Amino acid sequence: MARTRRPLIAGNWKMNGLCADGVALARELVALIKGRPKPAFDMVVCPPFTVIGEVGKAIAGSPLALGAQDCHAAAKGAHTGDISAAMLADRGCRFVIVGHSERRTDHGETDAEVKAKAEAVVGAGLTAIVCIGETESQRDAGKTLAVVKAQLAGSLPAKASAANVVVAYEPVWAIGTGRTPAADEVQEVHALIRARLADAVGAGEAARLRVLYGGSVKPDNARALLSLPDVDGGLIGGASLKSRDFWAIAESCL
Ligand code: PEP
Repeated sequence: MARTRRPLIAGNWKMNGLCADGVALARELVALIKGRPKPAFDMVVCPPFTVIGEVGKAIAGSPLALGAQDCHAAAKGAHTGDISAAMLADRGCRFVIVGHSERRTDHGETDAEVKAKAEAVVGAGLTAIVCIGETESQRDAGKTLAVVKAQLAGSLPAKASAANVVVAYEPVWAIGTGRTPAADEVQEVHALIRARLADAVGAGEAARLRVLYGGSVKPDNARALLSLPDVDGGLIGGASLKSRDFWAIAESCL
């Protein structure tokens, strides 16, 4: 079946790698993408803040896009240790992940905070990758759809569109564990997300807005997960740190 949305493969490097590691990984990806001059997918890497500048230089002129893993909701000010969306735009970022479950857990980020961050990203002219997903206990209690629905409603920025938002469905229990939902379970959640997006932004816009799956995507399960009708690519953690694995995942979208 032909895709109606161009897949996006996003690499979340998390808190991994010093400058030399990030640059080496970026160069490997640039070499791989050069072998496919007109890739049928978009690809973005989201390195740690400290490495963004050097990775940006390494991928300059290639189809690879630069992203970040978080930002502050404010444009500037007295927020020691934080980074604004405008600062990320200034370094060449085009995407910012907001509401990743590790931030929701480690930093207690609420849907309202995630929404404020997503609005800051959109306000800076960038695209927010808004993460949502249920915990294992919520899934076991049969609450997956209700949790995802509530998180989506609470986290989407006011002016969401296909041009400035990507949604990433990431079951918390699947992240970094090697476990994934069954393909039909993933499709069920993605179809729900698409239906709720239609309520929020209109059916036409929802039909264009990309919804990624994330959580233990590897080269050997990527095709089954990423070829589902409402799955428009992946948010990849561990496997994005190995250029060949990340590339193999991207190629499985073709
Ligand atoms: C993630 O952290 O967004 C993620 C999907 O991680 P992993 O691919 O390692 O499960």
